[in-house]
Amino acid sequence: MKLILLGAPGAGKGTQAEILCKELKIPTISTGNILRAAIKAGTEIGKQVEAYMNAGKLVPDDVIISIIQDRVKADDCKNGYILDGVPRTIAQAEALEKVGIEFDNVISIEISDETIMDRMSGRRVCETCGASYHLVAVPPKVAGVCDKCGGKLIQRHDDEPETVKERLEVYHRETEPLKDFYKKRGLLKTVENQPTVAETSEVILRAIGR
Ligand code: AMP
Repeated sequence: MKLILLGAPGAGKGTQAEILCKELKIPTISTGNILRAAIKAGTEIGKQVEAYMNAGKLVPDDVIISIIQDRVKADDCKNGYILDGVPRTIAQAEALEKVGIEFDNVISIEISDETIMDRMSGRRVCETCGASYHLVAVPPKVAGVCDKCGGKLIQRHDDEPETVKERLEVYHRETEPLKDFYKKRGLLKTVENQPTVAETSEVILRAIGR
């Protein structure tokens, strides 16, 4: 099962990916998490992308494609994978096709910009493993501490309101056209964001026939 999760920033792609990867026993590949880890580790790629990310802009397509090409070669990807936050542009989708990376399903999580703006203020992520939480909807067992690895939970720089607005604009302009791109290929399934995380997982699993 090779799956893409599409949706605005804060739509719940990361949270759903964590649930789906357990359910489907395939890894999640999150370019956002990979890039944040690169910044934290101070690698060349990290230095190259930090300014784009802090401004809520997209990182250049070639950086993203080479990350994905490397990652899908790993042994744990042999039964499939879930892409979270990638592709983000038509150019990335075309580049993935060109190098032979194909998909069985593309899920778009639909949610209003207003709900996103409300939701982002409560989002926290683990600075060590990248797991995501929400102060109200998905709280950690101990405040400020990751349930999975004990890492510290932080608010992302790019979750501040002005940057969220910019990211939403980027999403509508650059990423939303991918819905049409994958619809034409017969792969698109749109699902509405549900009142709870578990209900949204259920509609996604139903959409992919599980
Ligand atoms: P995310 O964690 O998916 O919200 O991504 C956070 C930030 O990482 C984005 O605002 C971009 O700056 C960068 N990023 C992540 N994935 C991509 C991608 N596929 N293409 C370009 N930039 C990306």
